[in-house]
Amino acid sequence: MKRSTFLFLTALLCQQAFGQQNEFLAKVKTAYDDFAEKSISVRRFKHGDVEPLLLNLKTKQGFSVTKAGESIEGRSIYLAKAGTGPVKVLLWSQMHGDETTATRVLLDLFNFLSDKSTFAKEKEALLKGVTLYFIPMLNPDGAEQFQRRNALGIDINRDAVRLQSPEARLLKHVRDSLNPDFGFNLHDQNSATSAGSTGKPASLSFLAPAYNEAKDINESRKAALQVVVKLNNLVQNYMPGHTARYDDTFEPRAFGDNIQKWGTSTILIECGAYADDPEKQVIRKVHFLALLGTLQSIADGSYKKLDSNDYFKIPENGRYYVDLLVKNGQLALENSWYTMDLAIRLRENTREDLRTYDVAGYIEDFGDMSVYFGYDEIDATGMTIVPGKVYPDIFETIEAIPADNIDNWLQEGYTYVKVRKLVGRYVDLPINIIGAYQTPDESISFGDPATFIITKDGRVMFTVVNGMVYNPAANDKGIKNGIVVR
Ligand SMILES: [Zn+2]
Repeated sequence: MKRSTFLFLTALLCQQAFGQQNEFLAKVKTAYDDFAEKSISVRRFKHGDVEPLLLNLKTKQGFSVTKAGESIEGRSIYLAKAGTGPVKVLLWSQMHGDETTATRVLLDLFNFLSDKSTFAKEKEALLKGVTLYFIPMLNPDGAEQFQRRNALGIDINRDAVRLQSPEARLLKHVRDSLNPDFGFNLHDQNSATSAGSTGKPASLSFLAPAYNEAKDINESRKAALQVVVKLNNLVQNYMPGHTARYDDTFEPRAFGDNIQKWGTSTILIECGAYADDPEKQVIRKVHFLALLGTLQSIADGSYKKLDSNDYFKIPENGRYYVDLLVKNGQLALENSWYTMDLAIRLRENTREDLRTYDVAGYIEDFGDMSVYFGYDEIDATGMTIVPGKVYPDIFETIEAIPADNIDNWLQEGYTYVKVRKLVGRYVDLPINIIGAYQTPDESISFGDPATFIITKDGRVMFTVVNGMVYNPAANDKGIKNGIVVR
């Protein structure tokens, strides 16, 4: 066979395999709701929600689940295994307790792989090519409190060398005893992260961590770069432009960097944010599909054909996203009008039940914010940004407020309601609460709570309460909760 013919045929076969995979993943995407783990659909969940699922997985053919160790507070940390292939892949999630998306992805993957009645041929091929090892929820004590660190306040991802925490020792022990070819270090990142300056949020960011200060590329890291290229290519099918690459400055205390150094090709995946996806269910599904396709490419070795240089074409993580961006409004400061943008951030405060949360919106910065992007944006050109009004009636309690009237009040520009008996710091109503004899602070500046109205020719166009928007024209009632001002 002529060399040119051979190359042509190889390219054709590659393309065919690629097409086949896309077709397979499209079918899996359609079937996703049939197998996705439905008991967990929010970001805040606990060890007690995951453990029964893992113990049930133990009963499934082809899976083994063993206890790998315990957290500081005595919660079991499990190691699950599936497959018999020669290439070993270790995936661990939720080293940071409040970064929960990937744990849900792994649960979906367990459900998918353990059901032999669908996609049998593809599942068999995958599990003959790789042996998969999973540590879902490495930091269950952190998960319990919905906090990054473990019960001692140690950041496990800065404990890879000193190994003071049992969770870090467990991960090191599992890595050293398995010596896997690939490691997937699964995290969530700040919602402010943008895909470079493209104007899109980095819903998924990747990193093939450096193993030294010089950021050298050896064979092991090169394989990680190629796997990231594969992941990135797959995500483009579902969320084009929503990927970025994480800063690869060598962090000598972190697990990713060290596991790369210890010879396992390591890939970090960070789930960011996506518009109108507060619980990251959309990202979860895309993450699942991209991970499944990538594991297939590791199993059949096809990732090796990818150009590792394409890794560096992925835009870098930027920090240009806020929750609400108000652009080009007129704001009065010291009795003069100025053209201003307001960059508003929502801060989450987890409630005592450790499962639900309230939101506090504040103005993170103002001025020329034209390099920023918002998950929600208001073009306030030709409009004025002014304080909202206090509803004239006084109510005895929060419960006495007629909730059905609030939409009308918001339309008229009321942002506060007076109540005699105040309780709590937040209120499950789309309006702020203030004491019966108080007046709200009317300052609209950086650091202030984000409550104001946007008007045009005296008409209320938007009412912003606690960083969230009520837009009567679009019937957009996006205000989750108000704050209680005392
Ligand atoms: Zn993390």
